[in-house]
Amino acid sequence: MNDAYDRKINYLRISVTDLCNMRCIYCMPEGGVEKLPHESILSVEEIEGICRAAAGLGVTKIRITGGEPLVRRGVGEIARGVCAIPGLSEVCLTTNGVLLGRPYEAPGQGGGSGAKISARRPYTYARMLADAGVSRVNISLDSLDPNVYNTVTRRDYLTEALAGVDAAFEAGLTPVKINAVLMGGVNDGSVAALAGLTRREGVQVRFIEIMPIGECAAWNKARFISGAEALAAVPGLEPCGVDGVAEIYRRAGYPGTIGVIPPVSSRFCATCNRIRVTADGRLKPCLHSGEEIPLKGLRGDALTEAIRRGIEGKPAGHALEADGVSASARGMNRIGG
Ligand code: SAM
Ligand code: SF4
Repeated sequence: MNDAYDRKINYLRISVTDLCNMRCIYCMPEGGVEKLPHESILSVEEIEGICRAAAGLGVTKIRITGGEPLVRRGVGEIARGVCAIPGLSEVCLTTNGVLLGRPYEAPGQGGGSGAKISARRPYTYARMLADAGVSRVNISLDSLDPNVYNTVTRRDYLTEALAGVDAAFEAGLTPVKINAVLMGGVNDGSVAALAGLTRREGVQVRFIEIMPIGECAAWNKARFISGAEALAAVPGLEPCGVDGVAEIYRRAGYPGTIGVIPPVSSRFCATCNRIRVTADGRLKPCLHSGEEIPLKGLRGDALTEAIRRGIEGKPAGHALEADGVSASARGMNRIGG
C-alpha cells in the first residue's frame, strides 16, 4: 500500500533478536545488552503472523535481521515460515557472517534439520537458509585486517566471517552483498582491500556512511566518512546505476561491483519504501523517528490495522542533518539495521 506521501511501501525489515555474538563499537555496548524477558520477544509464530499481515498489505520483500539473526533459536523455522508466505518475491537476511559456515542443528534435533549432515560437507547455516528459501544474504565486514576487524567488532572472528562468505557462495545465496560501515581513524584505511573482494564474481561491496544513532550518536564528526571519500580510495571506478539505496560502480577487470550507501550525505527519504519491526514487536515507520506501534499480541484484523496505521503515519523524512543525531531512542541492534 502507499503511505500519506504516496510512497509505495513494499519492504519489511524484521528483527528476530537484539542479541549478538559481536560487539561492534558503533552498535553495541562492550558489555552487551540486557536480555529482554522471553515473553517480550516475538515468538516464531508472531514473526510469521506479522510478515503474513504485511504481505497482505502489499509488502513483497522481507529482510530478516537483528541483532545477529543467526543466534536466534529457531531461526531456521522462522526462515522457512517467512519464505512460505504467498505474495513475497524475495526473502533475504543480514548477518555478520560468523555462523554461516558453521554446522546448523535444528533446535531439539541434535543432528541437523534432516538427513543432510555428511562428515565431508556439513549442513551449514548457509545451506539451511538456502533450503528454507532465503534468496541471498548481506554480510557485514568492516575490514580485512584482523587487528582492525577485532577493534571494530571487539571479537576475533574474521576467519569465521570470511568462511561465512564462502559458505554463502557454496549455498548459492548470491549475489553476496558485503556491507562495510566506515569510521575515520578506525577502518578508513580498509577501503581498497575490501574493494578488492570484487575480484570474485557475484560480490557487491557496499560502503555505508555511519549514522549517528545509538552507540555512535555522540561520536566526533571526524569519524564520519562520506561515500565520496570512500570512492576516492578506489581507482578506476565507473558509475553504472543504482541498486535500491546504493549507487553502483564497476572497475575494469573486476567482475563484482562496488556500492555506496549515503544515508547521511544524501537522504533517500523521498523514495523510502520500508518499514521495520523490532525484536519486541514494535513497528517503526521510520528508522530515525521515535514513533513505535506495538504489534506484539495482536492477531487478524487488529494486526493488519496496526500495520496499516504505521504505514499511513510514516513521516516524510528524518532530520539527521538538522539535528545531527537520530531521534530514535534505540540503537541499531535493537531496531534491525
Ligand atoms: N548483525 C547483523 C550484521 O551486523 O549484519 C545484522 C544487524 S546489524 C544492526 C545490520 C547492519 O547495520 C550492519 O551492516 C551494521 O554494520 C549496520 N549498522 C549498525 N549501526 C550502524 C550505524 N550507526 N550506521 C550505519 N550502519 C550501521
Ligand atoms: Fe552485532 Fe551486527 Fe551490531 Fe555488529 S552491527 S554488534 S554484528 S548487531
